[in-house]
Amino acid sequence: MSDKNIVLHVADVHKRFGGLHALADVDLQVEEGTVHAIIGPNGAGKSTLLNVCVGRIKPDRGQVVFDGQALNNHQPHQINQLGVSRVFQTPEIFADLSLLENVMIPAFAKRDGAFRFNASSPVAKQKDIREKAEAALEDVGLQNRRNVEAGSLSRGDKRRLELAMCLVQNPRLLLLDEPTAGMSRHDTNSTIDLLKRIKSRGMTKVIIEHDMHVVFSLADKISVLAQGRIIADGTPEDVRANPKVKEAYLGEAQT
Ligand code: ADP
Ligand code: MG
Repeated sequence: MSDKNIVLHVADVHKRFGGLHALADVDLQVEEGTVHAIIGPNGAGKSTLLNVCVGRIKPDRGQVVFDGQALNNHQPHQINQLGVSRVFQTPEIFADLSLLENVMIPAFAKRDGAFRFNASSPVAKQKDIREKAEAALEDVGLQNRRNVEAGSLSRGDKRRLELAMCLVQNPRLLLLDEPTAGMSRHDTNSTIDLLKRIKSRGMTKVIIEHDMHVVFSLADKISVLAQGRIIADGTPEDVRANPKVKEAYLGEAQT
Protein backbone atom coordinates (compact mmCIF):
# COMPACT_ATOMS: atom_id res chain seq x y z
CA MET A 1 0.00 0.00 0.00
CA SER A 2 1.15 3.48 -0.78
CA ASP A 3 1.59 5.96 2.05
CA LYS A 4 0.76 8.86 -0.26
CA ASN A 5 -2.12 11.14 0.51
CA ILE A 6 -5.24 10.46 -1.56
CA VAL A 7 -6.54 13.80 -2.83
CA LEU A 8 -9.49 12.44 -4.77
CA HIS A 9 -11.39 9.24 -4.10
CA VAL A 10 -14.24 8.29 -6.39
CA ALA A 11 -15.94 5.58 -4.35
CA ASP A 12 -18.21 3.05 -6.06
CA VAL A 13 -19.89 5.64 -8.25
CA HIS A 14 -22.80 4.60 -10.38
CA LYS A 15 -24.69 6.77 -12.87
CA ARG A 16 -27.45 5.78 -15.26
CA PHE A 17 -28.94 7.80 -18.07
CA GLY A 18 -32.23 6.01 -18.71
CA GLY A 19 -31.25 2.44 -19.53
CA LEU A 20 -27.60 3.29 -20.12
CA HIS A 21 -25.06 2.62 -17.38
CA ALA A 22 -22.73 5.54 -18.05
CA LEU A 23 -20.72 4.74 -14.90
CA ALA A 24 -20.82 1.40 -13.09
CA ASP A 25 -19.07 0.77 -9.76
CA VAL A 26 -16.30 3.22 -10.58
CA ASP A 27 -13.65 3.31 -7.88
CA LEU A 28 -10.64 5.51 -8.36
CA GLN A 29 -7.98 6.94 -6.08
CA VAL A 30 -5.76 9.83 -7.09
CA GLU A 31 -2.57 10.42 -5.14
CA GLU A 32 -1.36 13.87 -4.23
CA GLY A 33 1.05 15.47 -6.69
CA THR A 34 0.51 12.94 -9.46
CA VAL A 35 -0.79 13.24 -12.99
CA HIS A 36 -3.53 10.63 -13.23
CA ALA A 37 -4.91 9.97 -16.68
CA ILE A 38 -8.30 8.49 -17.42
CA ILE A 39 -8.42 7.02 -20.88
CA GLY A 40 -11.03 5.09 -22.80
CA PRO A 41 -12.92 4.95 -26.07
CA ASN A 42 -15.58 7.49 -27.02
CA GLY A 43 -18.70 7.14 -24.91
CA ALA A 44 -16.83 5.25 -22.16
CA GLY A 45 -18.10 7.65 -19.48
CA LYS A 46 -15.00 9.84 -19.04
CA SER A 47 -16.74 13.21 -19.20
CA THR A 48 -19.57 11.92 -17.02
CA LEU A 49 -16.99 10.93 -14.42
CA LEU A 50 -15.40 14.37 -14.51
CA ASN A 51 -18.81 16.01 -14.21
CA VAL A 52 -19.56 13.87 -11.16
CA CYS A 53 -16.26 14.98 -9.60
CA VAL A 54 -17.06 18.68 -10.01
CA GLY A 55 -20.68 18.40 -8.84
CA ARG A 56 -22.36 18.94 -12.21
CA ILE A 57 -23.85 15.45 -12.22
CA LYS A 58 -25.06 13.74 -9.06
CA PRO A 59 -24.27 10.01 -8.96
CA ASP A 60 -27.09 7.54 -8.35
CA ARG A 61 -24.86 5.66 -5.92
CA GLY A 62 -21.46 6.12 -4.36
CA GLN A 63 -19.63 9.33 -3.57
CA VAL A 64 -16.71 11.57 -4.36
CA VAL A 65 -14.31 12.38 -1.54
CA PHE A 66 -11.96 15.33 -1.99
CA ASP A 67 -9.22 15.74 0.58
CA GLY A 68 -11.10 13.56 3.06
CA GLN A 69 -14.38 15.44 2.62
CA ALA A 70 -17.39 13.79 0.97
CA LEU A 71 -18.88 16.03 -1.73
CA ASN A 72 -22.44 14.79 -1.46
CA ASN A 73 -24.44 17.98 -1.48
CA HIS A 74 -21.87 20.44 -2.76
CA GLN A 75 -22.66 22.73 -5.65
CA PRO A 76 -20.04 23.14 -8.41
CA HIS A 77 -18.96 26.60 -7.17
CA GLN A 78 -18.48 25.22 -3.64
CA ILE A 79 -16.29 22.41 -4.98
CA ASN A 80 -14.31 25.04 -6.87
CA GLN A 81 -13.89 26.99 -3.63
CA LEU A 82 -12.44 23.90 -1.95
CA GLY A 83 -9.61 23.90 -4.53
CA VAL A 84 -10.87 21.99 -7.57
CA SER A 85 -10.60 23.66 -10.99
CA ARG A 86 -11.52 22.09 -14.29
CA VAL A 87 -11.25 22.47 -18.04
CA PHE A 88 -14.29 21.03 -19.80
CA GLN A 89 -14.32 19.31 -23.17
CA THR A 90 -16.05 22.30 -24.76
CA PRO A 91 -14.37 25.60 -23.85
CA GLU A 92 -16.45 27.74 -21.49
CA ILE A 93 -15.19 31.26 -21.85
CA PHE A 94 -16.69 34.74 -22.01
CA ALA A 95 -16.49 35.45 -25.74
CA ASP A 96 -17.15 39.22 -25.50
CA LEU A 97 -14.55 39.86 -22.83
CA SER A 98 -10.81 40.22 -23.27
CA LEU A 99 -8.45 37.39 -22.38
CA LEU A 100 -7.29 39.31 -19.33
CA GLU A 101 -10.87 39.85 -18.11
CA ASN A 102 -11.64 36.17 -18.66
CA VAL A 103 -8.75 35.17 -16.42
CA MET A 104 -9.47 37.82 -13.78
CA ILE A 105 -13.00 36.47 -13.18
CA PRO A 106 -11.99 33.08 -11.75
CA ALA A 107 -9.23 34.81 -9.76
CA PHE A 108 -11.90 36.98 -8.09
CA ALA A 109 -14.19 33.98 -7.65
CA LYS A 110 -11.43 32.12 -5.86
CA ARG A 111 -10.75 35.00 -3.52
CA ASP A 112 -14.22 36.18 -2.69
CA GLY A 113 -16.30 33.09 -3.21
CA ALA A 114 -18.42 34.95 -5.73
CA PHE A 115 -18.27 36.55 -9.14
CA ARG A 116 -17.61 40.14 -8.20
CA PHE A 117 -15.84 41.31 -11.27
CA ASN A 118 -18.17 44.31 -11.70
CA ALA A 119 -18.37 45.19 -8.05
CA SER A 120 -16.13 48.01 -6.87
CA SER A 121 -13.06 46.45 -5.34
CA PRO A 122 -10.18 48.18 -3.64
CA VAL A 123 -7.60 49.24 -6.17
CA ALA A 124 -4.81 47.24 -4.52
CA LYS A 125 -6.82 44.05 -4.76
CA GLN A 126 -7.67 44.72 -8.40
CA LYS A 127 -3.97 45.19 -9.09
CA ASP A 128 -3.06 41.96 -7.33
CA ILE A 129 -5.69 40.01 -9.28
CA ARG A 130 -4.58 41.62 -12.52
CA GLU A 131 -0.97 40.63 -11.92
CA LYS A 132 -1.99 37.04 -11.16
CA ALA A 133 -4.10 36.95 -14.33
CA GLU A 134 -1.22 38.30 -16.41
CA ALA A 135 1.10 35.64 -14.97
CA ALA A 136 -1.41 32.89 -15.82
CA LEU A 137 -1.69 34.20 -19.39
CA GLU A 138 2.09 34.17 -19.60
CA ASP A 139 2.10 30.55 -18.39
CA VAL A 140 0.01 29.53 -21.38
CA GLY A 141 1.76 31.82 -23.88
CA LEU A 142 -1.15 34.22 -24.46
CA GLN A 143 0.19 37.30 -22.68
CA ASN A 144 0.71 39.24 -25.92
CA ARG A 145 -2.98 38.92 -26.74
CA ARG A 146 -4.36 39.81 -23.33
CA ASN A 147 -6.53 42.65 -24.68
CA VAL A 148 -8.02 40.66 -27.57
CA GLU A 149 -11.66 39.49 -27.37
CA ALA A 150 -11.72 35.84 -26.33
CA GLY A 151 -14.33 34.96 -28.97
CA SER A 152 -11.80 35.66 -31.72
CA LEU A 153 -9.36 32.96 -30.59
CA SER A 154 -8.82 29.68 -32.41
CA ARG A 155 -10.20 26.57 -30.72
CA GLY A 156 -6.75 25.57 -29.51
CA ASP A 157 -6.11 29.01 -28.03
CA LYS A 158 -9.52 28.97 -26.30
CA ARG A 159 -8.47 25.78 -24.57
CA ARG A 160 -5.21 27.44 -23.53
CA LEU A 161 -7.21 30.38 -22.19
CA GLU A 162 -9.37 28.00 -20.16
CA LEU A 163 -6.24 26.46 -18.73
CA ALA A 164 -5.05 29.93 -17.67
CA MET A 165 -8.47 30.45 -16.03
CA CYS A 166 -7.75 27.35 -13.93
CA LEU A 167 -4.08 28.07 -13.20
CA VAL A 168 -4.89 31.53 -11.85
CA GLN A 169 -6.82 29.80 -9.05
CA ASN A 170 -3.74 27.77 -8.08
CA PRO A 171 -6.00 24.77 -7.41
CA ARG A 172 -5.17 21.76 -5.29
CA LEU A 173 -6.69 19.54 -7.95
CA LEU A 174 -6.90 20.33 -11.65
CA LEU A 175 -9.23 18.29 -13.84
CA LEU A 176 -8.76 18.44 -17.59
CA ASP A 177 -11.20 16.93 -20.07
CA GLU A 178 -9.32 16.25 -23.31
CA PRO A 179 -7.11 19.35 -23.10
CA THR A 180 -5.75 18.78 -26.61
CA ALA A 181 -9.05 17.94 -28.34
CA GLY A 182 -9.39 19.73 -31.65
CA MET A 183 -5.75 20.85 -31.68
CA SER A 184 -3.22 20.38 -34.46
CA ARG A 185 -0.24 18.15 -33.69
CA HIS A 186 1.88 21.28 -33.24
CA ASP A 187 -0.58 22.80 -30.70
CA THR A 188 -0.94 19.42 -29.01
CA ASN A 189 2.82 19.23 -28.52
CA SER A 190 3.04 22.73 -27.11
CA THR A 191 0.16 21.96 -24.72
CA ILE A 192 1.96 18.79 -23.57
CA ASP A 193 5.08 20.90 -22.95
CA LEU A 194 2.98 23.37 -20.98
CA LEU A 195 1.41 20.61 -18.88
CA LYS A 196 4.86 19.16 -18.21
CA ARG A 197 6.07 22.59 -17.08
CA ILE A 198 3.21 22.99 -14.63
CA LYS A 199 3.63 19.41 -13.44
CA SER A 200 6.53 20.55 -11.29
CA ARG A 201 4.24 22.88 -9.34
CA GLY A 202 2.91 19.90 -7.48
CA MET A 203 -0.79 20.41 -8.03
CA THR A 204 -2.55 17.10 -8.56
CA LYS A 205 -3.98 16.61 -12.03
CA VAL A 206 -6.54 14.31 -13.54
CA ILE A 207 -6.39 14.30 -17.32
CA ILE A 208 -9.09 12.73 -19.40
CA GLU A 209 -7.66 11.88 -22.74
CA HIS A 210 -8.37 10.09 -25.93
CA ASP A 211 -4.92 10.64 -27.43
CA MET A 212 -2.53 7.93 -26.16
CA HIS A 213 0.48 10.01 -27.20
CA VAL A 214 -0.56 12.73 -24.74
CA VAL A 215 -1.21 10.25 -21.94
CA PHE A 216 2.01 8.30 -22.15
CA SER A 217 4.14 11.42 -22.20
CA LEU A 218 2.50 12.88 -19.08
CA ALA A 219 0.82 10.42 -16.76
CA ASP A 220 2.19 8.80 -13.61
CA LYS A 221 -0.90 6.60 -13.30
CA ILE A 222 -3.54 5.57 -15.80
CA SER A 223 -7.06 4.25 -15.30
CA VAL A 224 -8.87 2.83 -18.29
CA LEU A 225 -12.62 3.25 -18.57
CA ALA A 226 -14.69 1.18 -21.00
CA GLN A 227 -18.49 1.11 -21.07
CA GLY A 228 -18.63 2.85 -17.71
CA ARG A 229 -16.27 0.48 -15.89
CA ILE A 230 -12.63 0.73 -14.88
CA ILE A 231 -11.03 -2.19 -16.73
CA ALA A 232 -7.39 -1.46 -15.89
CA ASP A 233 -5.44 0.71 -13.48
CA GLY A 234 -1.72 1.23 -12.97
CA THR A 235 1.48 2.69 -14.36
CA PRO A 236 1.65 3.53 -18.08
CA GLU A 237 3.77 0.39 -18.63
CA ASP A 238 1.22 -1.85 -16.88
CA VAL A 239 -1.65 -0.38 -18.80
CA ARG A 240 0.08 -0.50 -22.16
CA ALA A 241 0.72 -4.21 -21.70
CA ASN A 242 -2.82 -5.03 -20.54
CA PRO A 243 -4.70 -7.15 -23.10
CA LYS A 244 -8.09 -5.78 -21.96
CA VAL A 245 -6.95 -2.29 -22.87
CA LYS A 246 -5.80 -3.33 -26.32
CA GLU A 247 -9.14 -5.01 -26.83
CA ALA A 248 -11.13 -1.94 -25.75
CA TYR A 249 -9.23 0.25 -28.20
CA LEU A 250 -9.32 -2.27 -31.02
CA GLY A 251 -13.04 -2.72 -30.45
CA GLU A 252 -13.45 0.98 -31.00
CA ALA A 253 -11.38 0.97 -34.17
CA GLN A 254 -13.70 -1.62 -35.69
CA THR A 255 -16.85 0.49 -35.18
P1 ADP B 1 -16.81 10.03 -22.99
O1 ADP B 1 -16.50 11.35 -22.39
O2 ADP B 1 -15.98 8.90 -22.46
O3 ADP B 1 -16.79 10.06 -24.49
P2 ADP B 1 -19.46 10.49 -21.87
O4 ADP B 1 -19.25 10.51 -20.40
O5 ADP B 1 -19.62 11.81 -22.54
O6 ADP B 1 -18.31 9.64 -22.58
O7 ADP B 1 -20.74 9.64 -22.20
C1 ADP B 1 -20.93 8.31 -21.70
C2 ADP B 1 -22.24 7.77 -22.21
O8 ADP B 1 -23.32 8.45 -21.57
C3 ADP B 1 -22.45 7.99 -23.71
O9 ADP B 1 -23.14 6.87 -24.22
C4 ADP B 1 -23.30 9.23 -23.77
O10 ADP B 1 -24.10 9.24 -24.93
C5 ADP B 1 -24.15 9.11 -22.51
N1 ADP B 1 -24.51 10.41 -21.92
C6 ADP B 1 -23.65 11.35 -21.49
N2 ADP B 1 -24.32 12.39 -20.95
C7 ADP B 1 -25.63 12.10 -21.06
C8 ADP B 1 -26.84 12.76 -20.68
N3 ADP B 1 -26.80 13.96 -20.09
N4 ADP B 1 -28.01 12.16 -20.95
C9 ADP B 1 -28.05 10.93 -21.55
N5 ADP B 1 -26.95 10.24 -21.92
C10 ADP B 1 -25.76 10.81 -21.68
MG1 MG C 1 -15.90 13.14 -23.18
